[in-house]
This record gives sequence, structure tokens and C-alpha cells, in this order.
Amino acid sequence: MQRRLRKVKIVATLGPASNDYDMIRALFEAGADVFRLNMSHGDHSEIRVRHQIIRQIEKDLGRPISILADLQGPKLRVGVFANGEEELVVGAPFRLDLDPAEGDVNRVQLPHKEIFAALEVGSSLLVNDGKIRLKVKDCGADFANCEVVVGGTISNRKGVNVPDVVLPLAALSDKDRKDLEFVCQLGVDWLALSFVQRPEDVEEARKLADGRAAILSKIEKPAAVTAFDEILAVSDGIMVARGDLGVELPVQNVPPIQKRLIRRCRTVAKPVIVATQMLESMIDSPMPTRAEVSDVATAIYEGTDAIMLSAESAAGSFPIEAVTTMNNVAIEVESDPNYLEIIAAQRGGKKTTIADGIVVAAREIAETTNIKAICCFTQSGTTALLVSRERPHVPIIALTPLVGTARRLALSWGTHCVVTAGVVERFKTAVVSAARAAREDGFASEDDQIVVTAGVPFNQPGTTNILRVAPCEERLIYSSDPE
Ligand code: PGA
Ligand code: MN
Repeated sequence: MQRRLRKVKIVATLGPASNDYDMIRALFEAGADVFRLNMSHGDHSEIRVRHQIIRQIEKDLGRPISILADLQGPKLRVGVFANGEEELVVGAPFRLDLDPAEGDVNRVQLPHKEIFAALEVGSSLLVNDGKIRLKVKDCGADFANCEVVVGGTISNRKGVNVPDVVLPLAALSDKDRKDLEFVCQLGVDWLALSFVQRPEDVEEARKLADGRAAILSKIEKPAAVTAFDEILAVSDGIMVARGDLGVELPVQNVPPIQKRLIRRCRTVAKPVIVATQMLESMIDSPMPTRAEVSDVATAIYEGTDAIMLSAESAAGSFPIEAVTTMNNVAIEVESDPNYLEIIAAQRGGKKTTIADGIVVAAREIAETTNIKAICCFTQSGTTALLVSRERPHVPIIALTPLVGTARRLALSWGTHCVVTAGVVERFKTAVVSAARAAREDGFASEDDQIVVTAGVPFNQPGTTNILRVAPCEERLIYSSDPE
């Protein structure tokens, strides 16, 4: 069967544990809707191979698959140590500077001069996923003398977070620019930007992508949380990047931020992904913990568009089990009457266009009568996003002649995307192809009814102006439908 039995989407990160055709296909069949290529790991030739495999699977299975390329962004790292690692103890002094000489227990290189310019006495530096905490006691243009506030092992090239300051860093490093051009030429659907701090960061990437990919902003800096509405306004989608966010902010701040961001995204009809540590224990275990299952369920109850696997699918021992777990949790949550109530209660957002009115009507008709699916014809994908925002209890079939639109929409809640063969020019043939897709992909049978929305004239974005309740039987469509 071609259809998913849930609305929320699953993003699976690819890596050494999910490199070949058979594994990636098995992940798709288990439920992965979007594949994430992490540009922090893997060279261009590996990325190219994974990309090719995904497109081959798409062709073999006849279903659009979304590819998200995640740019590393301005990730800060310390240099290297003569002994590979050192133990930092509480209260000890520790110096960061620009000297490339190998480090020891007293100092190490931090090869980012912009950071020294931005640091102030009292600033915090977090090393190794926040495990080590340093406080700046004295600093200058090329050094910072710190005190160890929380100790631990520091080793070669560990990541550094500087939560309290807006870093005067370019949003895209030279590596990011090269990676961006590379993946855009390969052809990806989404570009994720790491450590976004300001709306200008997003605009810069958008200019470089030049329409070749949609732009997703990863919210993992306190500055991005503060400027969230402005960042959302210039982004096509959002990732709640809980890993770095929970390092840069106290971990207990993450759940309320997650809730707020999910709701804000739904208000403006843009997809949001909840990411990181969702099934962390499944890296080494075929069974999740109860707390992880609860975390996945919570994100779904909150109405997120997608949930994501990182190391679980990229480097773990049980990638397929992890996708299957997410799939099973989603099916269970979405059949809970409580879920439907919560989702309905949060319906909102400004409605100003004809398309807004039509999708609300489509949802209400589907709720009132026995309708099997809302089928919407969409060019840019906007109408499908509006239907998705309504979170109808019936499936959404998004029909588009543009494969790029279908792939991008695969990230959004509830959408089953279908690429129409050739351009649809007449309303009657549109209804016929919607009914056919609904029947063939297992959503409806001959004696069922569907709702169809479309814009006439066809093939112009932003024209949605028709709503039709249609039979699924072809003979009936031909005898009853207007031209
Ligand atoms: P990353 O982003 O996995 O690229 O770090 C996600 C996160 O920080 O949560
Ligand atoms: Mn991150």
C-alpha cells in the first residue's frame, strides 16, 4: 500500500548505519518520509551517493521523498591537545587563545578571533555538549583567561557554545557556502541552517539557494529564540534543535520553548520538526525507554509536523526499529480522541484569503459528512500548507504537477503528495485524477466521496477558488461534474 497510516512525518538522518540502497529503502518502507543529509559528517562523494540512492528509491517506489541537507553552520571548536585530552578540575584556571600550539591542562587554542572580540568578563563558555563550563575572568583581543566552573574531560576539537552573546559570526562559513552550492546542484528539497541568530542569516542563505531549495532555520541559540518571530517570517520551516538549545539554555527551558515554537509555526502554516534525542537509547537498544516514547508522543500531541531521528538512524544499531517505534507511537497517539481535541483547540492563525476560507470549509465538510480525503491541487504548495494547518481528521492528498513541490510538502503534517502526470487543465479531469489517486493509494473506494479544492484557471499559483464534493466513481464524475 502506498499510504502512511499516520499524519505526523518522520525525518531520518542518514549516516554510516544507513548507507546503502537496501537499508535506506527499508527505512522509507518502515516510515521515514524525509531523509536528512548531515553536512557536518561525510564528504561530498558520500553525500552524492546517498542522494542518488534516495532518488533511485523514489523512482522505484513511485513516491516523492524529501531530502533535507543540514549545513554545519558556525560551529565553534577548540584546537588539539598534546596528550589528546586533559582533565579540567573545578576552580582551576584555563586559558583559551589563538596560538595553534598543542594544548595542555593550562590552555588550548580557540581558533575563532571573532569570539574573543565578543567575550566579556563573566561570559560563559561551554565545552563538549555543555559538560564543561568555563567563566571568563579576563580577556583581550586574542585570549580569554577562564575559571573552570564545571570540570570534566576536554579533548581534541570539542565543540564550544557561547550562549550569552550574539556572536559576530557570519551565518555561513566557507565550508557552508561550498556545501550549499554542492547540495543545491545535486538537488535537495530543504536546506537546514544551523545556529541561526538573526533573520539576516536566513536571508543570506536564501539568496545563495536562489529558489533551488526551501530554507529551514534550526533554533538552537538563545538569540534565535528571542528573535523567533522575525526568523520564522523569513523561513520556510523550523527545527527545534533541542541538542544545542539544551546546552545554550538550561535544559528545563527546552520543553516550553518547544511548545511555543510548534504553535507559532502552525499559526503561519509553516512546517516544524522536533529534533534530537527523541529515541536516544535506541542507538544501542532495540527497545526505547518509556520516557522517550512519552517524549515522542508529547511532540505529536502538541501538533508538530515532523519528528526526527539523528544518531538513532545514522549511526545506531537499530535504525529500522527506531523508525518503526516512531511510526507505532504516532498511530496510537493520533487515534486517541484526546489528540483530536487538543489539535482542534489550537486551530487558529490569521485567515485573509479565499484559499484560507476554502480550506476551512473543506475541513468542516469533511468533519460533517463521511468524506475520505481532502484532495487539493497546489502549485507552490501554499494551499496544501493551509489545509495541513487545519489539521483535518481525514487524509490530505496534495496533487501537483511539480515534483519539487511534492517533495517539499512531504515534510508537512498529513500530506500525501502525488505528482500529476502532465498538467491538469480542466476541472473535470482534475477531479478524475484526484479520485483516482484516492482509490489507488488506498484512501477511498468507488462508492466513497472526497473533497476537491483547486484554482481555475489551472497552473497559476495562488488561485484556489473551487471546492467540490465529488464521488470517487469515474462514471459518476463524468456524468455529474461541470467542465
Ligand atoms: P545537530 O542539530 O544535530 O546538527 O547539532 C540538532 C540539535 O542541535 O539538536
Ligand atoms: Mn545543533
